[in-house]
Amino acid sequence: MQKKHSWKKEQPQIVLSGTASALISTRREVVRRALPAGQEVQMYTDELERLKRELESANQMKDKFLSIASHELRTPITVIRAHAQMIERNIAKRPDVSSNLSTLITSLKIIDEQTHRLSVLVDNLLDPNSNRDGKMQLRRELRDLAALCREVVEEQRLLSSRLIELDLPPEPVILCLDHQRMSQVVTNIISNALKYSPADLPVRVQVDQRDNVAVLQVSDAGPGIAADQQTRIFEPFYRTPEAQGSSKRGLGLGLAICKDIVEQHDGRIWCDSCVGKGSTFVVELPLAMVP
Ligand code: ADP
Repeated sequence: MQKKHSWKKEQPQIVLSGTASALISTRREVVRRALPAGQEVQMYTDELERLKRELESANQMKDKFLSIASHELRTPITVIRAHAQMIERNIAKRPDVSSNLSTLITSLKIIDEQTHRLSVLVDNLLDPNSNRDGKMQLRRELRDLAALCREVVEEQRLLSSRLIELDLPPEPVILCLDHQRMSQVVTNIISNALKYSPADLPVRVQVDQRDNVAVLQVSDAGPGIAADQQTRIFEPFYRTPEAQGSSKRGLGLGLAICKDIVEQHDGRIWCDSCVGKGSTFVVELPLAMVP
């Protein structure tokens, strides 16, 4: 049995502490007028300390709520998705797939795509370890970036049925990384490349190793991104005017989270692009010092 969390009980405390805070401030103002300058400074210092503690505790409560909400939402989404995939596979295996059944397969594919979208949204919006407070906890270990990219590409090929070319070096590219977080980065960049480029054109994923860095490049033949937008797209909630005016939906959060994750790994991420000629997203990460 899963332990029940009680964040709801803590909510009234926020309201009470806000009211109490206002009352204390009014009383302190009366006291302040009667105090000499040195004591006044001390009073403000104490007040600031108290406010800081209150903010920290509110922040912890917010993180707790986000992780519970995220976990609670993610579980049913995963189950729905797994069942939709299982039924779809079972129907597709039958030798006599009638036109009624192929309509069913199409609907199941839509359920699968939309639940995938929902889980990406939940990850981006509700994950307290994401980029909002700079307190991401990484679980880093020695991993092969090439193998990680292969896994993500295979998954994206299955989900999108698109052509994704993969160019990996023959030897492993060993980095000290958080596998789940870095998979999130690679998934996000590849799914953006698929989303913003025409369905009949391939996306290319390449991993190289130079000097003491690993370089991942994801290129597409989409509309490209104007020079003045190429850094802005890494800001939270920023979407280019072209994306906003298109049918491609999004929140403009994915790349901001990717940047945060890459920088927490002491790496860099940027975009090379030319309008009308496609885009290449580049991630550069330090290689691990393997003895
Ligand atoms: P979202 O795709 O949800 O809007 P992202 O943070 O992943 O959010 O991307 C931010 C913006 O960057 C997108 O809205 C789009 O304008 C632009 N963008 C990202 N990847 C590409 C790409 N491969 N080609 C063209 N534009 C892109």
